[in-house]
Amino acid sequence: MNSPTPALDADALKAEQKAQYNANKLTKRLRHHVGDAINDFNMIEPGDRVMVCLSGGKDSYALLDILLGLQKSAPIDFSLVAVNLDQKQPGFPEHVLPAYLDSLGIEYRIVEEDTYSIVKRVIPEGKTTCSLCSRLRRGILYRVADELGATKIALGHHRDDILQTLFLNMFYGGKLKAMPPKLLSDDGKHMVIRPLAYCREKDLERYAEQREFPIIPCNLCGSQPNLQRQVVKEMLNDWDRRFPGRIETMFRSLQHVVPSHLADPTLFNFAGLALGGALPDEGGDTAFDREEFHDPQPDADDRPARPVISILDSRPKDSACG
Ligand code: SF4
Repeated sequence: MNSPTPALDADALKAEQKAQYNANKLTKRLRHHVGDAINDFNMIEPGDRVMVCLSGGKDSYALLDILLGLQKSAPIDFSLVAVNLDQKQPGFPEHVLPAYLDSLGIEYRIVEEDTYSIVKRVIPEGKTTCSLCSRLRRGILYRVADELGATKIALGHHRDDILQTLFLNMFYGGKLKAMPPKLLSDDGKHMVIRPLAYCREKDLERYAEQREFPIIPCNLCGSQPNLQRQVVKEMLNDWDRRFPGRIETMFRSLQHVVPSHLADPTLFNFAGLALGGALPDEGGDTAFDREEFHDPQPDADDRPARPVISILDSRPKDSACG
């Protein structure tokens, strides 16, 4: 057999270096997005016990992986416990997550609850099962959070999930409502956080490949795919291809809401508007102006300044927590 030529060796080395460079860049970007979201919404505080919900999909694997990385270097102490709910869908590979979590050597709990049978029994054949299934799942996860003493429940929803939800609510629900990065449960007892809120799904897909997470397929329940969500997802992906920066700009709009220029009298006191009274929201008085718009700036960042202590800071050298 012929040995490879030196030129080929050099090309292979260059390709490998480039791949490594891109992988490092991606890891850094995701880590920064997660750190920024945690800081902006005060998602994790000293002493928190964060229950990370792990489904076996790429997003929740990435969430756990990035939080574990941040935990090592963050200037605050918090603990993590991974939880998987085995809903007894036929064909669920029960060994995959325990083997993965054992290999990480972290605290975890696998919860076995046969919600699959309940859903199959209650929902007539051909009807969508997701709403009952997720309601059952939510109740179980809240109960487990109590049992584990978790102060925060971390979910793996990302920026694209949030935008899809915004459009789904607009198109089908008649509401300007997305999926919040931080949410208090209805009973006021649980705090749900979404540390991937600033992360792009594309990045999470590449990260999952890079880290070789043992992904469990998400169609085991045999449920119909959510067609409305699928359509919105394709619409957003198409915009992303044709108008670079639009997705980022749309997400930023969720952080720059101008209630005086919407039409919800519960958010802004239109009835009480009076001459000489309070001025409209900043940037809102454009009644006689033709609004000017510029091309989106994909990397523009006009979010508020970060807090003084950031989870992305390094742990002080003399810290007692190692
Ligand atoms: S896709 Fe299946 S497992 Fe997921 S929420 Fe719907 S019914 Fe439940």
